[in-house]
Amino acid sequence: MLVNTVAELVSTKPARLWIPERVIFTPAALDEPWGQQIYKRVQSLNLPIEELPRNRLTGLRGESERQTYDIAKRTLAVVTAPPSQLKLSPIPPSADWQFHLAEGCPAHCQYCYLAGSLSGPPVIRAYANLPQILENLAKYEQPGQMTTYEVSCYTDPLGIEHLTGSLAECIRYFGTRSDGHLRWVSKFDAVDSLLDLPHNGHTRCRVSVNAAPISGKFEGGTASVTSRLEALRKLALPREKGGGGYPVGLVIAPIMPIDDWQMQYGRLFDMISTALDMDCDLTFELISHRFTPGSKEVLQTWYPQSKLDMDEEKRTIKRNKFGGVKYVYDADTMKTMKRFFESEIQQRFPKAKILYWT
Ligand code: SF4
Repeated sequence: MLVNTVAELVSTKPARLWIPERVIFTPAALDEPWGQQIYKRVQSLNLPIEELPRNRLTGLRGESERQTYDIAKRTLAVVTAPPSQLKLSPIPPSADWQFHLAEGCPAHCQYCYLAGSLSGPPVIRAYANLPQILENLAKYEQPGQMTTYEVSCYTDPLGIEHLTGSLAECIRYFGTRSDGHLRWVSKFDAVDSLLDLPHNGHTRCRVSVNAAPISGKFEGGTASVTSRLEALRKLALPREKGGGGYPVGLVIAPIMPIDDWQMQYGRLFDMISTALDMDCDLTFELISHRFTPGSKEVLQTWYPQSKLDMDEEKRTIKRNKFGGVKYVYDADTMKTMKRFFESEIQQRFPKAKILYWT
């Protein structure tokens, strides 16, 4: 769909909210004040709550991998993050460090980046010891030098925000830091609760978008691209105009050279131009589609009917420094796509910064 005006873009449609069928709390999570805060939220939504006798998550496997997937994606587990989560890893090129407020995501993207990187059933695990997770971050800051933190590597933080409030808490925390900045990205659209937060310009909110044939076919359970852009517009609008006044960004991913890809991505840029027809602090991140042998295997059990192209014969192998293999597009295709995206962005958003192409 081609959107021509802001009026067409800004709808009154309610935001897309994930409602789990069950919410499980471990005893350790219930001992945490933040866990209690999540408990009250979930209770006020009248969701069925189970309190586990032990801290191990059990009873989440079905009779097949696909059934296990279905059970997991309908379950929110509130647990405490293991101590290993307090040792942060770098996450180039997105940010200096990654940390996690949850693991697992309620959406059903057939190319999901989490496939192969998380172990066990893809249950959405929200962390009840968030204050401890946030307190730990200061250790990684270098005084007088800006340090960036990505919080969307293992979850879609906005997708579970109505159940946890954890993203808002992170934004408030970073609003108080002089040298620490937060980055998050989402395919959901319920941003109203974030607009009035004291972010102090220290959080960059991004939405992940794609051309219509890709988002329509492969991004189950997410908000539409139109709604994501509407949400980004609200986040970017200045406070005096009722918006959040945040720095914002677009992550265009995973980019695929589908039929008529220039036209399809051109339409996506039309929609972005319509949504962001004002001055704002804007960045772009451009990520081409890739997969690994491990992610392909997991995705094929999660989405056995998927039409996603993961034919190794049509790809080039890229090795990381540990010898791991990724299948990417060949150098010519990559060069042509990169040139197209950079030129579209330079023409349409001359003030925006392209952070990386990969
Ligand atoms: Fe996976 Fe991201 Fe889609 Fe969630 S939104 S299913 S994390 S690709």
